[in-house]
Amino acid sequence: MDRKINLFSSNRRKELIQKISSDYFDVVVIGGGITGAGICLDAISRGLNVCLVEMNDFASGTSSKSTKLIHGGLRYLEQFKFKLVHESGTERAILHNIAPHIVKPQRMLLPISRDGKLNRLTTSLALTIYDYLAGVKGSEKKKMLSKKDTIEREPLLIDKKIIGGALYSEYRTDDSRLTIEILKKASALGAFPVNYLKAEKFIYENEIIVGINCRDKLSEKNVLVKSKILVNASGAWTDDVLKEKNKKLILSKGIHIVVPLGKFPIKQSVYFDAIDSRMLFAIPRDKMVYIGTTDTFFDRKKEKLLIKKKEVDYLIKSLNNFFLVNIKEKDITSSWVGLRPLIKENKKNVSEISRKDEIFDSKNGLITIAGGKLTGYRKMAERVVNVLLKKLDFSSKKSQTKDLKLFEFHYDNFINQTKDLKISSHDLSKIYNVYGDNAIEIFRIHKRIDSNYKDYSLLISEIIYCFKNEMCHNLLDFFSQRNSMVYFEIDKIMKSLNFIKKPYKELKNINEDQWRKESEELKKYIFEITNFI
Ligand code: FAD
Repeated sequence: MDRKINLFSSNRRKELIQKISSDYFDVVVIGGGITGAGICLDAISRGLNVCLVEMNDFASGTSSKSTKLIHGGLRYLEQFKFKLVHESGTERAILHNIAPHIVKPQRMLLPISRDGKLNRLTTSLALTIYDYLAGVKGSEKKKMLSKKDTIEREPLLIDKKIIGGALYSEYRTDDSRLTIEILKKASALGAFPVNYLKAEKFIYENEIIVGINCRDKLSEKNVLVKSKILVNASGAWTDDVLKEKNKKLILSKGIHIVVPLGKFPIKQSVYFDAIDSRMLFAIPRDKMVYIGTTDTFFDRKKEKLLIKKKEVDYLIKSLNNFFLVNIKEKDITSSWVGLRPLIKENKKNVSEISRKDEIFDSKNGLITIAGGKLTGYRKMAERVVNVLLKKLDFSSKKSQTKDLKLFEFHYDNFINQTKDLKISSHDLSKIYNVYGDNAIEIFRIHKRIDSNYKDYSLLISEIIYCFKNEMCHNLLDFFSQRNSMVYFEIDKIMKSLNFIKKPYKELKNINEDQWRKESEELKKYIFEITNFI
């Protein structure tokens, strides 16, 4: 098959499914979150023939529900996990280099409060060690602040609580975009990632797994994918895929809430004390601020993954206790909830369990990777592919992903090419921040769009781009994993639906019933993240 054809497209599904059911892969990866995506890219760039199956949309699991930080891992210092801090810290600069428009340096304010667990001395010491281990250089190094400077930086802090502060460096990201860009790159290099394909049953030969029966959730057909090795990178579903008696994981639930910047007008990102002994992040993003997270045990057998009023209450109380605001539940415009896949450690509660990753090599040939963080995805992938190369008897080749740019970054070029368009600089940079250089293609589509769609023509161009180039299959895929509007711009989604209906139905060639079904699914999700139980 000619790989100049872009198979990372919802239009090419038939060809893609045909291809993966007729091939014999070196590796099939189960799970299209950041872990699976990282493995897929590392494997293809080291010469393995690789396919990836994801049962829902890419990044629709935990990899779109994180705090969206590429962490140096300050809190791991408390647990004396120096190696983890070193690795996470080093990774940040690498990820910024390979994906500069989605991994960006961010100064974080750490206020020191009168009754917090850190004082000036311990904060300074911890941040010095952190900078050293994480290899932080120059102006990004920690800076201790007086009380006055701290309050000047963030006037919403309650004066009498604060005794000083510090600035330290973090990197912020867009978790689902990062995952999708990695998969796009892997696909461009010749890998075959497929969404809405659920791995259901292993196929054995002499007690060794040689393939997997999958269900195509879009056509309800079975698809058999054959491979020399299977990798289980299914995150919080690891134990379901393994079907073993002894469970490997314990799940921890974490929520975030979103409020308008107008209600909580912080000037910058803050890492602050919650009402218990934990710490929370408040991070401004465009016209919103998101706050999180919680960390509580979750039993999938007993409960649904929905947000509880008491979890929201905890975040609101913590905010109102630390800042000069009076946020109420009705101010929340959106939220998200995700599950941390943590490796079981006896007698520890979820917040004490380390965020380390581990590779399990089963007798039946299945390699499982579990645990870890978004931040460490590249190193996790490197370790897994090292194991794969050994098992497959491939000559060992060093991982290529450290210098493998997810795409080129030419912002000046982009601004030049778009300067004649009648689009506001805010919209231009917003689209660029999501799609990088590919934003040019969205503006090319935009030139051909019917001007009757007025304010929504750019959004329609974005939808067309995502269906053709990002394997987006429905409205929810688009408004959640492709551009996070369900979290940060629900109002705009609701206003846009009437305008996008006609071009969307034409694009997908669907009838009124199918449109209604998709828009109901979108509205159901929006209801869940705006109403708490
Ligand atoms: P997932 O993203 O869940 O991917 C697993 C995928 O496997 C899913 O998409 C699922 O649909 C698919 N799957 C399951 N079963 C099957 C099957 N049978 N067939 C096909 N596909 C299947 N880390 C950071 O570095 N920085 C942060 O700021 C941060 N904040 C966090 C905040 C919260 C609240 C949480 C919960 C986690 C946070 N993390 C953070 C951790 C990070 O988000 C996770 O470690 C990471 O996203 C896990 O990725 P994953 O690919 O392993 O899992």
